[in-house]
Amino acid sequence: MTAQIINGKEIAKKKRSEIAKEVDELKKNHVIPGLAVILVGNNQASRTYVKSKQKACQELGMHSLLIEYPETVQESELLSKIDELNHDDAIHGILVQLPLPDHINEVKVIEAISPAKDVDGFHPINIGRMMTGQDAFLPCTPYGVMVMLEEMNIEIAGKHVVIIGRSNIVGKPSGQLFLNENATVTYCHSKTKNLEEHTKNADILVAAVGRANFITADYIKEGAVVIDVGINRNEEGKLCGDVDFEEAKEIASYITPVPGGVGPMTITMLMYNTLKAAKNFQSKLQKTK
Ligand code: NAD
Repeated sequence: MTAQIINGKEIAKKKRSEIAKEVDELKKNHVIPGLAVILVGNNQASRTYVKSKQKACQELGMHSLLIEYPETVQESELLSKIDELNHDDAIHGILVQLPLPDHINEVKVIEAISPAKDVDGFHPINIGRMMTGQDAFLPCTPYGVMVMLEEMNIEIAGKHVVIIGRSNIVGKPSGQLFLNENATVTYCHSKTKNLEEHTKNADILVAAVGRANFITADYIKEGAVVIDVGINRNEEGKLCGDVDFEEAKEIASYITPVPGGVGPMTITMLMYNTLKAAKNFQSKLQKTK
């Protein structure tokens, strides 16, 4: 079997053009979706991510505001900036690029963001809402995975989904979103024994480990859908996922490549969440008129 490639780039392009149209509509009502990004320190990877987020905002006609701080910034200064942005009507989404320096309490910073502007979906209120199946800002990477599957018409209800990884931003919320769609979910992680025995049972296998080419054909059931969230560099310094793509594509029914799979969906869902926050703001505005 040679797997069908799930082209994240194409799906992201389609979704972004839908978002751009909605941004135009909002602008007619004098609301320009605005995203504020706070960047602390000089981490190169963080800088690159932030640049891509700003570029996406510009392409979709959104307002983007970058606030930069040196590595030495005090936690109190960050918290007061977040408070200011929470009350700024031109800003509908607030994102603090992680990781933060050790002297800053990440949890405190995330909890300072108004849940109505938490477009990363990391605030406990949004996580709780997601868990109870209420309307929420969903974390962008897992949300992007769900949208990809929906676009490919891949059924989820009743499927056995195995997630490898249990981070708060990818693994855990991914499992929850699959559960919300009536899948049977198994979480695997660094302490899981006999990983292969679990992954071999997966109808849908999601790898979010952060180890280059870790998942080989031996871990995959014939005909499984394989979603590779990992972004790694191989020995030659080339970008690659957690899944050995060449091996896996011979056994899976669908597979996401790296690059060009889940990656482009993450920023797209951030744009979607910012648009949603702006729409919520506008409908509130209308109600108070
Ligand atoms: P993380 O380091 O926080 O979590 C990795 C998880 O892998 C942990 O839960 C750990 O228990 C598990 N793990 C480690 N070794 C294992 C093993 N031997 N067997 C089974 N499980 C094991 O990483 P993360 O933030 O969840 O990111 C995971 C990967 O996804 C990274 O490569 C990251 O770069 C990538 N990522 C991609 C996107 C995207 O937009 N595509 C977004 C976020 C993260």
